[in-house]
Amino acid sequence: HSPTNRRDRAVIIGAGLAGSLAAVYLARRGYAVDVYERREDPRLAPAGIAGRSINLGLSARGMRALHDVGLLNDVLKRSVPMQGRVVHSPDGSVGFQPYGVRDHQILHSVLRDELIAVLVDAADAQPEVRFHFGWRMHRLDRDRPAVTVVSEQDGESLDVTADLVVGADGAFSTVRQQMQHGLRANHSQEFLDWGYKELTIPVGPDGQPRVRLEALHVWPGEHGLMVAHPNLDGSLTCTLFMPYEGESSLATLTSAEAIRAFFRHNFPDAEELMPHLVEEILSHPTGHLVTVRTSPWHHADRVVLIGDACHAVYPFYGQGMNSSFEDCLVLDRCLDEHRDRGAALAAFQAARKPHTDVLADLSTENFIELRDRVHRPGYVVRAAADRLLNRLLPEHWTPLYTMVAHTTTPYAEALARSHRQDRIVRWAAAGGLAAGAALVYLSARTALRAARGR
Ligand code: FAD
Repeated sequence: HSPTNRRDRAVIIGAGLAGSLAAVYLARRGYAVDVYERREDPRLAPAGIAGRSINLGLSARGMRALHDVGLLNDVLKRSVPMQGRVVHSPDGSVGFQPYGVRDHQILHSVLRDELIAVLVDAADAQPEVRFHFGWRMHRLDRDRPAVTVVSEQDGESLDVTADLVVGADGAFSTVRQQMQHGLRANHSQEFLDWGYKELTIPVGPDGQPRVRLEALHVWPGEHGLMVAHPNLDGSLTCTLFMPYEGESSLATLTSAEAIRAFFRHNFPDAEELMPHLVEEILSHPTGHLVTVRTSPWHHADRVVLIGDACHAVYPFYGQGMNSSFEDCLVLDRCLDEHRDRGAALAAFQAARKPHTDVLADLSTENFIELRDRVHRPGYVVRAAADRLLNRLLPEHWTPLYTMVAHTTTPYAEALARSHRQDRIVRWAAAGGLAAGAALVYLSARTALRAARGR
C-alpha cells in the first residue's frame, strides 16, 4: 500500500467498531488520523456499563477485514468459538443446529469493548494516529471540510480541519445529518416495534458454565426472543427481545411475579440459569432497533459515511459489525484503485449500498425466522436437507445462511444465487413428481395390457 503523496489528514467521528478499524486502515495508507469519540476510553472501563455490555458474533466478512490488517489472531484470542445454535424450544426441548456445512464454518463471540480495545491499541501504536475520548462532534462544515468538537468534561470547543472527514458515528449519525442537510438526500429509518434488554447467565456456583459454552443459545417464541452469547469467563450475555407494547410485552414486565411468570411460560429452562433476572430486567435500559437506508454516503472528496451511519440493520443476521468492518476493507480498495478521492468515495458507495440494502431485508426476514421458525420441525428438516445438498453438490448448492455468514460473497449476489438454487430444487421436485406420475401411468398401462392379454 503506497502512502498518499503528502500526508493527508483524516478526522474520524466515532471510535465504535467501524471508526476504530477505519483508523487502522487509514493510518496504513499514510493518513494522519484524529479520532473523536464522545464516550470514555473503553480500555479504562473494560466491564462496560451495566446492561450495555453488547456481545457480538464475528463471522467471515469481519474476519477477512481484520485479517487484512493483521489483527484477526489478536481478536480470536479474546473470543469464544460458537459451533452452532442451541435452540431451547417453548415446550422445554433442546436441540443443536450446526452453523455451517463444514467444520470450520463457525462464529466467534466477542465483547464489543474488548474488540474496540484491540483496534484502538493497534491504531494508537501508529505515530500519526490520535484518539480523543470524551469529545463530541457538534458541527460539520462539509465543504472545508472541518468539524467542531466539544469536550464532554468542560465544554471546551475546538475547530479541526481535515482533508477527509469519516462519519463513523452510528445509526443516529450527526455527520450524516449535517452532510446531507439541504441536499437532495434520501433517507429512511424504521424502528422495530420490539426493543431489547441485556441480561446475564453468570457462571455456576462451581465456577463452571451453566450451559454448553461454545454455542449461541436461542430461546425462540412469538412473545419474546432471547439469545445468549458466550464469554471467555464462562458466563453468557443474553439479549432479550420483546414487543414494547401489548399484553405480553416489555411494558408488562414491571414486577418480579410478572417477570417470573413470563419466563416460566415462554422460556421454561432459562429462569434457573439467571439468578439476577428480576433485578436486571427492572434496572437495565431498553435498547431500540433501527434500520437505516440513506443516500448519498459521501460529499465530494471531503466526507464519507461508514458502518451503521449509512446502513444500520436489525441484529438478527449478526451482520451489522461484520458489514461495517467490510466497509473499511472496501473503502481501502477503492482508495487504492482511484487516484481521485472523490471518485474513490463514489465507487465505495456504488460497491456497497446495493448490498447493504439487501442485508437490511435479510436481517428483517431473519427476525421472523429466529422468532417463529427456528424450533419448528420443518425448519430443522430444511436445514438438514440444505447441508446434505451442499455435501452432494458443493459447487452448486450453498445455503443462504452459509453464504452470508461464512463467505464474503456480496449480499445481493448471495441472495440472487439462493433464489436460483431454490428454483432449481423446485424444478427438480416438479420434474421428480412428473417422472413419478409418468412411471405410475406406464406401469398401470402395462399391467392393464398384460391383464387383457391374459
Ligand atoms: P457504533 O458501534 O454505534 O459506534 C458509533 C460510535 O460513535 C459510538 O462509540 C458513539 O459513542 C460515537 N458517536 C456517536 N455520535 C458521536 C458524536 N456526535 N461525536 C463523537 N462520537 C460520536 N453485529 C454483528 O456483526 N454481529 C452481531 O452479533 C451483532 N449483534 C448485535 C446485537 C445487538 C443487540 C445490537 C444492537 C447490534 C448488534 N450488531 C451485531 C450490530 C453492531 O453492533 C453494529 O452494526 C455496529 O456496532 C456498528 O458499528 P459502528 O461503529 O458503525 O457504530
